[in-house]
Amino acid sequence: MATRKFETEVNQLLHLIIHSLYSHKEIFVRELVSNASDALDKLKYLTLTDEACKSLPFDPRIDISFDADKKTLSIADTGIGMNEADLVEQLGTIAKSGTRNFVAQLTGDAKKDSNLIGQFGVGFYSCFMVADRVDVISRKAGEDKAWQWSSDGKGEYEISEARRDTAGTTVTLHLNENGQEYANHWQIESIIKKYSNHIPFSIYLHYEDIRYEGKDKDRKEIKEQKIDKVNEASALWKCAKKDLKDEDYKDFYKTTGHDTEDPLLWVHTQAEGTMEYTTLFYVPKKAPFNLYYSDFKPGLKLYVKRVFITDDDKELLPHYLRFVRGVIDSEDLPLNVSREILQQNRVLAKIKSSSVKKLLDEFKTLSEDKEKYDAFYKEFGRLLKEGLYQDYENREALLELVRFKSTGAEGFAGLAQYKERMQPEQKAIYYITGEHEETLRHSPLLEMYQKKNIEVLIMDDPLDELVMPSVGRYKDIEFKSINRSDAAEELKTEQDKQEEKQAEPVIKRMKDVLGDEVKEVKASARLSDSPCCLVVDEKDPTVQMQGLLKAMGQDGPEIKPILEINPTHEIIKKLESVQDDSLFADATRLLFEQALLIEGAPIKKPVDFVKRLNSMLGRAL
Ligand code: ADP
Repeated sequence: MATRKFETEVNQLLHLIIHSLYSHKEIFVRELVSNASDALDKLKYLTLTDEACKSLPFDPRIDISFDADKKTLSIADTGIGMNEADLVEQLGTIAKSGTRNFVAQLTGDAKKDSNLIGQFGVGFYSCFMVADRVDVISRKAGEDKAWQWSSDGKGEYEISEARRDTAGTTVTLHLNENGQEYANHWQIESIIKKYSNHIPFSIYLHYEDIRYEGKDKDRKEIKEQKIDKVNEASALWKCAKKDLKDEDYKDFYKTTGHDTEDPLLWVHTQAEGTMEYTTLFYVPKKAPFNLYYSDFKPGLKLYVKRVFITDDDKELLPHYLRFVRGVIDSEDLPLNVSREILQQNRVLAKIKSSSVKKLLDEFKTLSEDKEKYDAFYKEFGRLLKEGLYQDYENREALLELVRFKSTGAEGFAGLAQYKERMQPEQKAIYYITGEHEETLRHSPLLEMYQKKNIEVLIMDDPLDELVMPSVGRYKDIEFKSINRSDAAEELKTEQDKQEEKQAEPVIKRMKDVLGDEVKEVKASARLSDSPCCLVVDEKDPTVQMQGLLKAMGQDGPEIKPILEINPTHEIIKKLESVQDDSLFADATRLLFEQALLIEGAPIKKPVDFVKRLNSMLGRAL
């Protein structure tokens, strides 16, 4: 017998599960049954697709039994099984990098962490909540030897050779004080019905039935061993919609999606005709913490004629819909579809494209309830924006679904509402980009728009900078970034143009002072209270974008901003008559530097800036 230590991370995970999931301890049944069902799925697939495995016996079932005296509970399956190496790999280490990330996120605050665990799924180790020892006896399909893995969940486990007549796995829990209530027929039956009713394999419960016959002193106790099938064993998504209640959908989601919360919504489609397939999609209430990690695994399973094929195909739905969980089951695909074939399969491509439309439609319906939609949008809205540049085909539908902060509305604004609020002379949808909502809301760039009562969308997510330029239009209205030099052109009046002309000499002098630091100095009609602001040329990345590119290690050529001045502002007016060249230069530099500050851009020589500022203060006081 070999004694081994768990990986440190397993220990952390075990500790956390045992201490934070207490109020939901019955879910260990769901987790073990779901593992058994996965193991049956895997063997079924092999016997159908792998020549070498076609002759393996396959009698799929899950058997649950308990011994009230010994206080044990066993869950046995006839699935794929595990050999010695599998046991070490699967139960002794945390093989999946997702789990590693999960452990890295733990805060030690039980309440927060148990939320995390809900998003993550708890797996096999949840059985240590109710057991002080767990034995796993397993024999891999096609192999002769069986192995026993045993542990008390306290840092070590043992592996030794064992006996098992057929392939499969038996997990036996030696129930602790908190677990003894589960050595009970009614308890187990009700938990199975609640969580695992629609696992596609039969679950049998073995128990001892006690009856009494006769009266008084003739009364006899009759014990009888019984086996009942306790679940429907029908794939839920294949059941007729009219036969399914909300509760059925919710329970199925929780069993298969490892979520402790109800889903936000689900969409069940049973397509018949030229193509026959079923999809059952779920949107969770909360976004999983690792949604933006590169190794995030979407919770979507592909079945072919009810045979599980894969849950590891990132292409079943477009990347931006990776938060959608559930099942796709096709009647028209061959069972032995390989990964490569899946990628370019016509049937799957069609299912994918109608599924996307269906889901976007569903989100549209959800958007009619503002409160619900805002909650959904808070979790997943960013992904819909990703969709704007990933999914050209559905861009129009997505444009109806995205929301932005805005100067014209509380909370989030949709583009349809923006359009309704547009001024008669307004030709574009204006937006401002930058890092901080507050800075943007007070940016001098907004002044003219505010004066003219024109709404501006506030885009404070770096993603907006990437997405918006590629979008171009909503219906036939162009998007315009007001961080750019020409956005204000169309709003210029005759008077603006005259003032611009008058400002030409001062502009020239300012440009001479600033030299290479700016691309241009221009008069602008967009300012009213501020003397100046910075914008970028139409084709150049904005200041924030440059920061972003730099952070990603892409050092492009240095992009120079354009300094726009307000020709009617008091300071500019006074500047026109300043004769002292050094005073003019100081004032010009200070104007440029304050504009940089407002943009959140760094000042190259802060020491010089402070010197200038102090000299100005000295003069003014
Ligand atoms: P998950 O099911 O999320 O992968 P678990 O901790 O529940 O995580 O299980 C870890 C691994 O152990 C599984 O991925 C599977 O490979 C293996 N395993 C668990 N239970 C069984 C079983 N009954 N039959 C075969 N393999 C199993």
